Amino acid sequence: EALGPAITIGEILVEIMADAPGLGFLEPLALTGPFPSGAPAIFIDQLARMGASAGIIAAVGADDFGTVNIRRLADDGVDVSAIAIAPQHPTGTAFVRYKPDGGRDFVFNIALSAAGEIHPTEQARALIGRAGHLHLMGTALTIPHAWPVIQYAMDTIRSRGGSFSFDPNVRKELLASPDFRERFAAVLARADVLLPSGDELFAAAPAANEPEAVTKLLDLGISEIVLKRGASGATVFTRAGRYDATAYGVEEIDPTGAGDCFGGAYIACRRLGLPIEQALDYANAAGAIAVTARGPMEGASTRDMLEAFMNNAGRM
Ligand code: ATP
Ligand code: MG
Repeated sequence: EALGPAITIGEILVEIMADAPGLGFLEPLALTGPFPSGAPAIFIDQLARMGASAGIIAAVGADDFGTVNIRRLADDGVDVSAIAIAPQHPTGTAFVRYKPDGGRDFVFNIALSAAGEIHPTEQARALIGRAGHLHLMGTALTIPHAWPVIQYAMDTIRSRGGSFSFDPNVRKELLASPDFRERFAAVLARADVLLPSGDELFAAAPAANEPEAVTKLLDLGISEIVLKRGASGATVFTRAGRYDATAYGVEEIDPTGAGDCFGGAYIACRRLGLPIEQALDYANAAGAIAVTARGPMEGASTRDMLEAFMNNAGRM
């Protein structure tokens, strides 16, 4: 774990889930929650549970939804010193209902919630000053005040000799905004590891096919491209070659957060010095376990849990 903890910057939310699938929220529904959530929070929780050192720069409200998140992250070993409490704003929320076709309907309160109140606080600067790795999610690029903090983190951690990973994790439509596109390109150009899922590969590198997109990204200076393929597993591409993993066979209960658990496990393994092939195997197992648990962060696993699963599970 060269130079210090892996850190992330981004949204913390609670998720509240409809018990039964259906369309939308237009009548009273049975709901279960709050579950700790937010893609960066899930990622960093999984990374910490693997035994890698971890921290997060984020903001929550002065309310129980904030406390739920801070407690979970702290219990799992994440440095929560740079989670700000924004007393004027409620903690961000996402209400989620699975549709009969497996898609999801959402009601979000993110942009106007405490999740948007990321500022260059003293605690944020201190955490950045001792970090050895930065992980960003595309969603963080949409948080207005967070951008200067992100730039400061990229510069500081890079100048200490640290590394940088990026999970685009965005809807393609966001790239229509010039501001977003500029930030996205700036982040992409500096990433060492890229973790796209499915078509996000082509948002990062417009191309006619997968090999062409991969070549473009390697030429940009990205050394590991970790492509998540849902129930079809995952592939890592490097200059030296490719590594493929077929998915572990599991029953999918709630796919939300699988990509974040996968990413947290992958980066944790790399930080802990494991080779790509092994990191991919752990990550693939972490993603598989994540889809079997209801609630986005509930499927984050310890290294022991992953090893037990990997020893027993069959491949699809
Ligand atoms: P998210 O919705 O969290 O953003 P994502 O789209 O980033 O997810 P996915 O490709 O859906 O990421 O899942 C990440 C990884 O989790 C996959 O590459 C795979 O290793 C594992 N995984 C996902 N779904 C399944 C499944 N149904 N069965 C087994 N493994 C799965
Ligand atoms: Mg994703």
